[in-house]
Amino acid sequence: MKKKVIFLLTVTLSLFSLLNFGALGKTDFSRQREEMIKFQIEARGIKDKKVLAAMKKVKRHLFVPSGLRNFAYYDQPLPVGQGQTISQPYIVALMTELLLLKGDEKVLEIGTGSGYQAAILAEIASEVYTIEILPALAQKAERLLNQLGYENIKVRCGDGYQGWPEQAPFDAIIVTCAPPNIPQALIDQLADGGRLVIPLGEEVQELKVLVKKKDKIEIEAIIPVRFVPMVKGYEKR
Ligand code: SAH
Repeated sequence: MKKKVIFLLTVTLSLFSLLNFGALGKTDFSRQREEMIKFQIEARGIKDKKVLAAMKKVKRHLFVPSGLRNFAYYDQPLPVGQGQTISQPYIVALMTELLLLKGDEKVLEIGTGSGYQAAILAEIASEVYTIEILPALAQKAERLLNQLGYENIKVRCGDGYQGWPEQAPFDAIIVTCAPPNIPQALIDQLADGGRLVIPLGEEVQELKVLVKKKDKIEIEAIIPVRFVPMVKGYEKR
């Protein structure tokens, strides 16, 4: 009798741990993604349904180094190699929301990094062009985005200060590294009525939104932020 109970208990526990393994061990982190959205993003006032849906869909853990997967949904930036970082989830959501995308836009991103922000943009907009100055990061992001089937993202290794003139104008531009001043090429490549979201400054940085209306430029300050610097002096190899 006692043996039978122990046997049953063992079977039940193994079944339970198998189920748990399905939910936690081999997880696709969907519960962590939902909690990230609820407690970090919606709680801080992000309302755009398209942004929330994109953040729910894109598997952020695939964009961080494998040793950091368990931290992928934490409320913080994470290193992605080459001294660079993937932004905190809330900042990705906020910057995307500030672009006011409807779905048919052509978007330029400066600072591909891991490719995560590009994937979020590609879930919402129709075309995404993204420029990364470090070849190793550009190649890695391009490979991952291809693997994930993002046919509407083009990655270029080059200097973001030049923008991507062959593809201009862009309806929206997002810069995910911080220059001291807004690069003129990016203003020039922004379509009329377009929006540019950019962290500006060196030690002290502020997130700004620039809106181009005919020949007038309006700039609004949003919040203080901390990004890696937008570097100069890239030589094409
Ligand atoms: N958007 C990224 C995070 C970007 S971190 C993500 O979702 O993971 C900022 C990136 O900007 C770094 O990878 C850095 O190499 C890149 N960068 C810095 N200066 C640049 C420049 N002048 N042109 C293009 N990319 C630049």
